[in-house]
Amino acid sequence: MGRSSFAAAVILFAAVAGLVALLSSNADPNAGVLRPVVPTEPVNTGPSQPWQDILRIGVSGAGTPIPTVALPGQNFVVPTLPVDTQPTSAPLPAGELVQRVVIDVPLSGVTATPAALAAFDTTTVPIATRLAQTPRPVPTNPPSLPVPLAIDPRDHYWFVRPVDADRTNRGLDYYEYGTDGPREDPYPIHFGIDIANEIGTTVRAAGDGVVVFATSEDTPIFQNSPSYGNVVVIEHDYVYQRQPLWTLYAHLEAPLVTAGERVVTGQAIGLVGNTGQTGGPHVHFEVRMGANTYGTTFNPVLWLAPYVNRGTIAGKVVDERGNFIDDADVSLVIAGATRDVTTTYVFRGSGSTVNPDPVWGENFVFSDVPIGRYEVVTTINGRRISQTVAVRQGVTSFVELKPPEAEVATPSP
Ligand SMILES: [Zn+2]
Repeated sequence: MGRSSFAAAVILFAAVAGLVALLSSNADPNAGVLRPVVPTEPVNTGPSQPWQDILRIGVSGAGTPIPTVALPGQNFVVPTLPVDTQPTSAPLPAGELVQRVVIDVPLSGVTATPAALAAFDTTTVPIATRLAQTPRPVPTNPPSLPVPLAIDPRDHYWFVRPVDADRTNRGLDYYEYGTDGPREDPYPIHFGIDIANEIGTTVRAAGDGVVVFATSEDTPIFQNSPSYGNVVVIEHDYVYQRQPLWTLYAHLEAPLVTAGERVVTGQAIGLVGNTGQTGGPHVHFEVRMGANTYGTTFNPVLWLAPYVNRGTIAGKVVDERGNFIDDADVSLVIAGATRDVTTTYVFRGSGSTVNPDPVWGENFVFSDVPIGRYEVVTTINGRRISQTVAVRQGVTSFVELKPPEAEVATPSP
Protein backbone atom coordinates (compact mmCIF):
# COMPACT_ATOMS: atom_id res chain seq x y z
CA MET A 1 0.00 0.00 0.00
CA GLY A 2 1.43 3.40 -1.01
CA ARG A 3 1.61 6.36 1.33
CA SER A 4 -1.25 8.26 -0.38
CA SER A 5 -3.67 5.28 -0.38
CA PHE A 6 -2.84 4.61 3.28
CA ALA A 7 -3.75 8.23 4.09
CA ALA A 8 -7.02 7.83 2.15
CA ALA A 9 -7.83 4.68 4.14
CA VAL A 10 -7.20 6.49 7.43
CA ILE A 11 -9.54 9.33 6.38
CA LEU A 12 -12.23 6.86 5.30
CA PHE A 13 -11.95 5.00 8.64
CA ALA A 14 -12.26 8.23 10.59
CA ALA A 15 -15.34 9.25 8.58
CA VAL A 16 -17.10 5.92 9.16
CA ALA A 17 -16.27 5.99 12.90
CA GLY A 18 -17.65 9.51 13.13
CA LEU A 19 -20.89 8.50 11.42
CA VAL A 20 -21.32 5.50 13.75
CA ALA A 21 -20.77 7.75 16.78
CA LEU A 22 -23.34 10.23 15.46
CA LEU A 23 -25.97 7.53 14.91
CA SER A 24 -25.34 6.02 18.35
CA SER A 25 -25.78 9.37 20.03
CA ASN A 26 -29.27 9.63 18.50
CA ALA A 27 -30.41 6.23 19.74
CA ASP A 28 -33.07 6.38 22.46
CA PRO A 29 -31.46 4.96 25.60
CA ASN A 30 -34.93 4.06 26.87
CA ALA A 31 -35.98 2.14 23.76
CA GLY A 32 -37.88 -0.98 24.71
CA VAL A 33 -38.39 0.11 28.33
CA LEU A 34 -41.96 0.13 29.59
CA ARG A 35 -42.95 3.64 30.60
CA PRO A 36 -46.47 4.49 31.67
CA VAL A 37 -47.51 7.82 30.25
CA VAL A 38 -50.52 9.79 31.40
CA PRO A 39 -52.21 11.88 28.72
CA THR A 40 -51.27 15.50 29.20
CA GLU A 41 -53.02 18.57 28.00
CA PRO A 42 -51.55 19.74 24.72
CA VAL A 43 -50.90 23.40 24.03
CA ASN A 44 -53.95 25.05 22.54
CA THR A 45 -53.16 26.55 19.19
CA GLY A 46 -56.66 27.57 18.22
CA PRO A 47 -59.36 25.84 16.26
CA SER A 48 -57.39 25.18 13.07
CA GLN A 49 -54.19 23.25 13.52
CA PRO A 50 -51.68 23.22 10.70
CA TRP A 51 -49.86 19.92 10.50
CA GLN A 52 -46.62 21.58 11.47
CA ASP A 53 -48.26 22.70 14.71
CA ILE A 54 -49.60 19.25 15.38
CA LEU A 55 -46.20 17.73 14.82
CA ARG A 56 -44.60 20.36 17.03
CA ILE A 57 -47.14 19.85 19.77
CA GLY A 58 -46.96 16.11 19.41
CA VAL A 59 -43.23 15.83 19.82
CA SER A 60 -42.98 18.39 22.60
CA GLY A 61 -43.23 17.43 26.25
CA ALA A 62 -46.78 18.77 26.45
CA GLY A 63 -47.98 16.81 23.43
CA THR A 64 -50.21 13.83 22.93
CA PRO A 65 -49.06 10.65 24.64
CA ILE A 66 -45.94 9.01 23.31
CA PRO A 67 -45.76 5.24 22.87
CA THR A 68 -45.87 3.56 26.22
CA VAL A 69 -44.84 0.02 25.49
CA ALA A 70 -42.35 -2.05 23.60
CA LEU A 71 -44.45 -3.42 20.76
CA PRO A 72 -44.32 -7.13 20.00
CA GLY A 73 -41.77 -7.93 17.33
CA GLN A 74 -43.28 -11.23 16.26
CA ASN A 75 -46.40 -12.04 14.35
CA PHE A 76 -49.40 -12.30 16.60
CA VAL A 77 -50.97 -15.73 16.84
CA VAL A 78 -54.69 -15.68 17.57
CA PRO A 79 -55.28 -17.40 20.91
CA THR A 80 -57.16 -20.67 20.70
CA LEU A 81 -58.80 -20.80 24.10
CA PRO A 82 -61.50 -23.43 24.53
CA VAL A 83 -65.06 -22.28 24.94
CA ASP A 84 -65.80 -21.98 28.60
CA THR A 85 -69.09 -21.68 30.32
CA GLN A 86 -68.21 -19.03 32.86
CA PRO A 87 -70.70 -16.18 32.95
CA THR A 88 -69.30 -12.94 31.64
CA SER A 89 -70.06 -11.16 34.88
CA ALA A 90 -71.21 -12.03 38.35
CA PRO A 91 -74.76 -13.42 38.32
CA LEU A 92 -77.38 -10.91 39.30
CA PRO A 93 -80.34 -11.64 41.53
CA ALA A 94 -82.76 -13.72 39.46
CA GLY A 95 -85.76 -11.82 38.25
CA GLU A 96 -84.26 -8.41 38.77
CA LEU A 97 -83.47 -7.90 35.12
CA VAL A 98 -85.21 -9.38 32.15
CA GLN A 99 -83.84 -10.42 28.81
CA ARG A 100 -85.37 -8.58 25.92
CA VAL A 101 -86.15 -10.62 22.86
CA VAL A 102 -84.01 -9.86 19.82
CA ILE A 103 -86.28 -8.56 17.11
CA ASP A 104 -84.71 -7.74 13.79
CA VAL A 105 -86.43 -4.44 13.13
CA PRO A 106 -84.89 -2.03 10.63
CA LEU A 107 -83.75 1.09 12.43
CA SER A 108 -85.42 3.45 10.00
CA GLY A 109 -89.13 3.70 10.54
CA VAL A 110 -89.01 2.60 14.16
CA THR A 111 -90.36 5.20 16.50
CA ALA A 112 -89.05 4.67 19.99
CA THR A 113 -92.27 5.45 21.79
CA PRO A 114 -92.76 3.84 25.18
CA ALA A 115 -95.42 1.63 23.60
CA ALA A 116 -93.06 0.49 20.84
CA LEU A 117 -90.33 -0.23 23.36
CA ALA A 118 -92.71 -2.13 25.59
CA ALA A 119 -93.51 -4.36 22.62
CA PHE A 120 -89.92 -5.58 22.74
CA ASP A 121 -90.48 -6.97 26.25
CA THR A 122 -92.15 -10.18 25.27
CA THR A 123 -90.26 -12.52 27.56
CA THR A 124 -89.26 -12.39 31.17
CA VAL A 125 -86.24 -14.68 31.25
CA PRO A 126 -84.12 -13.50 34.17
CA ILE A 127 -80.78 -12.28 32.90
CA ALA A 128 -78.97 -14.25 35.59
CA THR A 129 -80.33 -17.44 34.02
CA ARG A 130 -79.34 -16.18 30.61
CA LEU A 131 -75.80 -15.46 31.79
CA ALA A 132 -75.41 -18.94 33.18
CA GLN A 133 -76.54 -20.43 29.86
CA THR A 134 -74.40 -18.29 27.57
CA PRO A 135 -70.98 -19.72 26.77
CA ARG A 136 -68.23 -17.14 26.73
CA PRO A 137 -67.49 -16.20 23.09
CA VAL A 138 -64.30 -17.63 21.61
CA PRO A 139 -61.80 -14.84 20.97
CA THR A 140 -61.79 -14.02 17.28
CA ASN A 141 -59.57 -10.97 17.36
CA PRO A 142 -56.07 -10.27 18.66
CA PRO A 143 -55.93 -8.30 21.90
CA SER A 144 -55.89 -4.52 21.68
CA LEU A 145 -52.68 -2.57 21.96
CA PRO A 146 -52.36 -0.81 25.33
CA VAL A 147 -53.45 2.77 25.91
CA PRO A 148 -52.61 5.61 25.76
CA LEU A 149 -51.03 4.96 22.38
CA ALA A 150 -49.52 7.57 20.06
CA ILE A 151 -46.67 6.05 18.09
CA ASP A 152 -47.37 8.80 15.57
CA PRO A 153 -47.76 12.00 17.64
CA ARG A 154 -50.86 12.90 15.64
CA ASP A 155 -52.67 9.82 16.96
CA HIS A 156 -54.74 9.88 20.14
CA TYR A 157 -55.62 6.28 20.88
CA TRP A 158 -56.49 7.02 24.50
CA PHE A 159 -59.43 4.68 25.10
CA VAL A 160 -59.88 0.95 25.61
CA ARG A 161 -62.72 -0.90 23.92
CA PRO A 162 -65.88 -0.90 25.98
CA VAL A 163 -66.44 -4.59 25.39
CA ASP A 164 -63.75 -7.06 26.40
CA ALA A 165 -60.90 -6.75 23.95
CA ASP A 166 -60.50 -10.34 22.89
CA ARG A 167 -64.12 -10.87 21.95
CA THR A 168 -65.99 -10.38 18.72
CA ASN A 169 -66.10 -6.68 19.28
CA ARG A 170 -65.28 -4.65 16.22
CA GLY A 171 -67.77 -2.13 14.97
CA LEU A 172 -70.39 -3.47 12.66
CA ASP A 173 -69.08 -3.27 9.12
CA TYR A 174 -72.22 -1.95 7.53
CA TYR A 175 -72.96 0.93 9.89
CA GLU A 176 -69.78 2.79 10.70
CA TYR A 177 -69.50 6.26 12.23
CA GLY A 178 -70.88 9.02 10.04
CA THR A 179 -72.51 6.64 7.57
CA ASP A 180 -76.13 5.81 6.90
CA GLY A 181 -75.75 2.07 6.51
CA PRO A 182 -77.03 0.02 3.58
CA ARG A 183 -77.46 1.95 0.34
CA GLU A 184 -80.78 0.27 -0.50
CA ASP A 185 -82.30 0.88 2.91
CA PRO A 186 -80.52 3.77 4.63
CA TYR A 187 -80.49 4.11 8.42
CA PRO A 188 -80.25 7.39 10.31
CA ILE A 189 -76.74 8.85 10.15
CA HIS A 190 -74.64 7.11 12.79
CA PHE A 191 -73.11 9.22 15.55
CA GLY A 192 -71.20 6.33 17.12
CA ILE A 193 -70.15 2.76 16.44
CA ASP A 194 -72.09 -0.40 17.24
CA ILE A 195 -70.33 -3.26 18.97
CA ALA A 196 -72.50 -6.34 18.90
CA ASN A 197 -72.31 -8.93 21.66
CA GLU A 198 -74.45 -11.19 23.79
CA ILE A 199 -76.86 -9.62 26.24
CA GLY A 200 -75.14 -9.54 29.60
CA THR A 201 -71.58 -9.14 28.29
CA THR A 202 -69.60 -6.77 30.49
CA VAL A 203 -69.30 -3.19 29.24
CA ARG A 204 -66.23 -1.36 30.53
CA ALA A 205 -65.18 2.25 31.04
CA ALA A 206 -63.07 3.39 28.08
CA GLY A 207 -60.99 5.62 30.37
CA ASP A 208 -60.76 7.10 33.85
CA GLY A 209 -63.42 9.63 34.76
CA VAL A 210 -66.68 10.41 36.49
CA VAL A 211 -70.10 9.04 35.53
CA VAL A 212 -72.18 12.08 34.59
CA PHE A 213 -75.26 10.12 33.54
CA ALA A 214 -76.57 6.65 34.25
CA THR A 215 -80.14 5.66 33.49
CA SER A 216 -82.14 5.28 36.68
CA GLU A 217 -85.70 5.56 37.88
CA ASP A 218 -85.16 9.27 38.47
CA THR A 219 -83.45 9.82 35.11
CA PRO A 220 -85.00 7.26 32.74
CA ILE A 221 -84.15 9.07 29.48
CA PHE A 222 -80.84 10.60 28.41
CA GLN A 223 -81.01 14.01 26.71
CA ASN A 224 -84.58 13.48 25.58
CA SER A 225 -83.54 10.51 23.39
CA PRO A 226 -85.47 7.37 24.30
CA SER A 227 -83.79 5.63 21.34
CA TYR A 228 -80.61 5.31 23.43
CA GLY A 229 -82.33 2.98 25.90
CA ASN A 230 -80.30 2.57 29.08
CA VAL A 231 -77.22 4.78 28.95
CA VAL A 232 -74.03 5.50 30.85
CA VAL A 233 -71.99 8.65 30.08
CA ILE A 234 -68.51 9.26 31.49
CA GLU A 235 -66.68 12.57 31.56
CA HIS A 236 -62.98 11.77 31.42
CA ASP A 237 -60.17 13.05 33.58
CA TYR A 238 -58.12 14.29 30.64
CA VAL A 239 -58.77 16.78 27.87
CA TYR A 240 -57.67 17.00 24.22
CA GLN A 241 -56.61 20.37 22.81
CA ARG A 242 -58.22 21.86 25.93
CA GLN A 243 -61.51 20.18 25.02
CA PRO A 244 -63.20 17.94 27.59
CA LEU A 245 -63.99 14.38 26.50
CA TRP A 246 -66.98 12.14 27.14
CA THR A 247 -67.76 8.55 26.19
CA LEU A 248 -71.31 7.23 25.91
CA TYR A 249 -72.56 3.63 26.15
CA ALA A 250 -76.13 3.02 25.00
CA HIS A 251 -78.71 0.19 24.71
CA LEU A 252 -77.44 -1.34 27.98
CA GLU A 253 -79.40 -4.09 29.65
CA ALA A 254 -78.52 -2.30 32.86
CA PRO A 255 -76.01 0.25 34.09
CA LEU A 256 -73.77 -1.00 36.93
CA VAL A 257 -72.83 2.52 38.07
CA THR A 258 -74.65 5.65 39.17
CA ALA A 259 -74.20 9.33 38.33
CA GLY A 260 -71.42 10.95 40.31
CA GLU A 261 -69.45 7.73 40.68
CA ARG A 262 -65.74 7.75 39.84
CA VAL A 263 -64.63 4.95 37.47
CA VAL A 264 -61.28 3.72 36.23
CA THR A 265 -60.28 2.41 32.80
CA GLY A 266 -61.66 -1.07 32.23
CA GLN A 267 -64.06 -0.98 35.16
CA ALA A 268 -67.39 -2.76 34.58
CA ILE A 269 -70.03 -0.07 34.11
CA GLY A 270 -72.91 -1.96 32.50
CA LEU A 271 -74.17 -4.99 30.65
CA VAL A 272 -74.74 -5.29 26.90
CA GLY A 273 -78.44 -5.03 26.18
CA ASN A 274 -81.07 -4.38 23.58
CA THR A 275 -82.87 -1.40 25.10
CA GLY A 276 -84.06 1.58 23.09
CA GLN A 277 -84.04 1.65 19.31
CA THR A 278 -81.97 -1.33 18.17
CA GLY A 279 -81.94 -4.19 15.72
CA GLY A 280 -80.27 -6.55 18.20
CA PRO A 281 -78.07 -6.56 21.30
CA HIS A 282 -75.08 -4.25 21.04
CA VAL A 283 -73.34 -1.29 22.64
CA HIS A 284 -73.71 1.98 20.77
CA PHE A 285 -70.49 3.80 21.70
CA GLU A 286 -69.85 7.51 21.18
CA VAL A 287 -66.90 9.83 21.78
CA ARG A 288 -67.92 13.45 22.40
CA MET A 289 -65.49 16.34 22.60
CA GLY A 290 -65.92 19.99 23.59
CA ALA A 291 -69.54 19.57 24.66
CA ASN A 292 -71.65 16.65 25.80
CA THR A 293 -74.12 16.87 22.91
CA TYR A 294 -75.31 14.91 19.91
CA GLY A 295 -73.63 17.39 17.55
CA THR A 296 -70.13 17.03 19.03
CA THR A 297 -69.36 13.37 18.34
CA PHE A 298 -66.19 12.16 16.64
CA ASN A 299 -65.26 8.81 15.11
CA PRO A 300 -64.61 6.50 18.08
CA VAL A 301 -62.28 4.20 16.15
CA LEU A 302 -59.72 7.02 16.00
CA TRP A 303 -59.75 7.00 19.82
CA LEU A 304 -59.73 3.23 20.49
CA ALA A 305 -56.34 1.50 20.41
CA PRO A 306 -56.16 -0.88 17.43
CA TYR A 307 -55.60 -4.59 17.87
CA VAL A 308 -52.08 -6.04 17.86
CA ASN A 309 -50.74 -6.16 14.30
CA ARG A 310 -53.51 -3.86 13.10
CA GLY A 311 -53.53 -0.25 12.01
CA THR A 312 -56.01 2.34 10.82
CA ILE A 313 -56.61 4.06 7.49
CA ALA A 314 -58.25 7.48 7.71
CA GLY A 315 -58.91 9.39 4.55
CA LYS A 316 -60.95 11.82 2.59
CA VAL A 317 -62.82 11.62 -0.65
CA VAL A 318 -63.09 15.13 -2.09
CA ASP A 319 -63.99 16.81 -5.35
CA GLU A 320 -61.62 18.88 -7.51
CA ARG A 321 -62.03 21.85 -5.17
CA GLY A 322 -61.35 19.82 -2.05
CA ASN A 323 -64.97 19.65 -0.84
CA PHE A 324 -66.08 16.45 0.86
CA ILE A 325 -68.11 14.04 -1.25
CA ASP A 326 -70.83 12.46 0.91
CA ASP A 327 -71.88 8.81 0.88
CA ALA A 328 -69.26 7.66 -1.65
CA ASP A 329 -68.24 4.00 -1.73
CA VAL A 330 -64.61 3.39 -0.75
CA SER A 331 -62.96 -0.01 -1.20
CA LEU A 332 -59.92 -1.45 0.52
CA VAL A 333 -58.06 -3.69 -1.91
CA ILE A 334 -55.12 -5.99 -1.23
CA ALA A 335 -53.49 -8.22 -3.84
CA GLY A 336 -56.31 -7.44 -6.24
CA ALA A 337 -59.03 -8.59 -3.84
CA THR A 338 -61.48 -6.28 -2.06
CA ARG A 339 -61.09 -6.78 1.67
CA ASP A 340 -63.53 -4.19 2.95
CA VAL A 341 -65.93 -1.52 1.72
CA THR A 342 -67.18 1.56 3.52
CA THR A 343 -68.95 4.79 2.60
CA THR A 344 -67.95 8.36 3.35
CA TYR A 345 -69.63 10.39 6.10
CA VAL A 346 -72.92 12.06 5.33
CA PHE A 347 -72.83 15.70 6.43
CA ARG A 348 -76.38 16.97 6.28
CA GLY A 349 -76.93 20.68 5.98
CA SER A 350 -79.03 21.29 9.06
CA GLY A 351 -79.21 20.22 12.67
CA SER A 352 -76.63 17.95 14.26
CA THR A 353 -73.91 16.55 12.08
CA VAL A 354 -71.03 14.16 12.44
CA ASN A 355 -67.55 15.65 12.61
CA PRO A 356 -64.14 14.91 11.11
CA ASP A 357 -61.35 14.34 13.61
CA PRO A 358 -59.58 17.61 14.53
CA VAL A 359 -56.25 16.12 13.48
CA TRP A 360 -57.09 13.94 10.50
CA GLY A 361 -60.01 15.83 8.92
CA GLU A 362 -61.27 12.56 7.43
CA ASN A 363 -64.57 11.51 5.94
CA PHE A 364 -63.96 7.76 6.08
CA VAL A 365 -62.00 5.33 8.22
CA PHE A 366 -61.05 1.67 7.95
CA SER A 367 -60.26 0.37 11.42
CA ASP A 368 -58.32 -2.69 12.57
CA VAL A 369 -56.72 -3.28 9.18
CA PRO A 370 -54.00 -5.99 9.24
CA ILE A 371 -50.58 -4.50 8.56
CA GLY A 372 -49.66 -4.49 4.86
CA ARG A 373 -49.87 -2.49 1.66
CA TYR A 374 -53.30 -1.64 0.34
CA GLU A 375 -54.96 0.19 -2.48
CA VAL A 376 -57.80 2.51 -1.41
CA VAL A 377 -60.23 3.00 -4.28
CA THR A 378 -63.24 5.16 -5.02
CA THR A 379 -65.08 6.47 -8.07
CA ILE A 380 -65.46 10.22 -8.61
CA ASN A 381 -67.52 11.41 -11.59
CA GLY A 382 -67.28 7.95 -13.09
CA ARG A 383 -63.50 7.94 -12.86
CA ARG A 384 -61.58 5.42 -10.74
CA ILE A 385 -59.36 7.20 -8.20
CA SER A 386 -56.95 5.20 -6.05
CA GLN A 387 -54.01 5.60 -3.70
CA THR A 388 -51.62 3.06 -2.26
CA VAL A 389 -51.19 3.14 1.49
CA ALA A 390 -49.03 1.21 3.95
CA VAL A 391 -50.71 0.13 7.18
CA ARG A 392 -48.46 -0.09 10.22
CA GLN A 393 -49.21 -1.47 13.66
CA GLY A 394 -50.99 0.93 16.00
CA VAL A 395 -50.70 3.88 13.62
CA THR A 396 -53.16 5.87 11.49
CA SER A 397 -52.22 6.15 7.82
CA PHE A 398 -53.84 8.99 5.91
CA VAL A 399 -54.92 8.96 2.28
CA GLU A 400 -56.66 11.57 0.11
CA LEU A 401 -58.72 10.57 -2.91
CA LYS A 402 -59.18 13.54 -5.23
CA PRO A 403 -59.55 13.95 -8.99
CA PRO A 404 -56.46 15.34 -10.74
CA GLU A 405 -56.16 19.14 -10.80
CA ALA A 406 -56.28 19.09 -14.61
CA GLU A 407 -59.95 18.18 -14.42
CA VAL A 408 -60.98 21.46 -12.81
CA ALA A 409 -63.54 23.01 -15.13
CA THR A 410 -62.52 26.32 -16.67
CA PRO A 411 -64.87 29.02 -15.38
CA SER A 412 -66.98 30.52 -18.12
CA PRO A 413 -66.18 34.16 -18.91
ZN1 LIG B 1 -75.32 2.82 17.08
